[in-house]
Amino acid sequence: MIQNFTLHTHTAGFDGRHSESEMITRAADMGFDTIGISNHFIVHPDIRRAHFYIPAKSRKYDAIYSASFDEVIPRFIAHYERLERAAENAKINVLRGMEVDFFDTPQWYHGFESALRTLRPDYIICACHFIEFAGGLCNVHDMANAGPDIQKKMLAMYWQKIRTAAASGIFSWMAHIDLPKKVGLGADEYWGDAENKTVSALAKCKIPVEINTGGKRIGVPEPYPSARIMRMIANNNVPVLLSDDAHSCDQIGRDFESAHVLAQKCGIKNFLTLQKILDFSNKTL
Ligand SMILES: [Zn+2]
Ligand SMILES: [Zn+2]
Repeated sequence: MIQNFTLHTHTAGFDGRHSESEMITRAADMGFDTIGISNHFIVHPDIRRAHFYIPAKSRKYDAIYSASFDEVIPRFIAHYERLERAAENAKINVLRGMEVDFFDTPQWYHGFESALRTLRPDYIICACHFIEFAGGLCNVHDMANAGPDIQKKMLAMYWQKIRTAAASGIFSWMAHIDLPKKVGLGADEYWGDAENKTVSALAKCKIPVEINTGGKRIGVPEPYPSARIMRMIANNNVPVLLSDDAHSCDQIGRDFESAHVLAQKCGIKNFLTLQKILDFSNKTL
């Protein structure tokens, strides 16, 4: 097995399809030693005013968006309780994770720190699904719909946000760092400089990056990050792990082999063990 653990997964009650116990059983059947569940932890006071909230509500995954920490914490307590019960009967190790959207405000830091004291996750994945632009929250679809000049500004802000999040020292690793690729943005050579600057910053912070194969689910043919960024990761010796970003049982471990081959082709050698990830997470938590 290329990697005997999978830590970036989602379950029902958030935006995944299957329950905690169904995900654990499938991972065990596939031969994994460890599964971690990392549902979305997204808290922003304006989240219900964002464009993307309406389609999320109609497609019934609005539960991932919270306007306050008081809303999200009970949801995670209930989820972690289900996870603990499922883990009791599991044949493999089960870890408590979260995929957290980073917002660089004193209110967010304060709320997040107190949430951590209550929830005590084993690791925290950093995601930047949104940028704050012109007084509102924008996701990658909003970026795709913007005019060329605004789009350029938004993408530059996105890369800056990744660097700020990495430097915060809060996170165990960075998720899908070139997420705007999801909507076809950022592939141009022009963005090589921003990517390079970002990967150097990640190396400086000693924060790992995931190679995320979950894009296939929505038609992205290659993993996050691109081969261009993978070569930068190799040059800077940034540690990596493989993530499936599974939102259902059948997505667990998907494309790990081909992603591993591509990463090696790009020169990546620094693949993390589970122990190293947990050691790193213990330092940040
Ligand atoms: Zn994500
Ligand atoms: Zn995810």
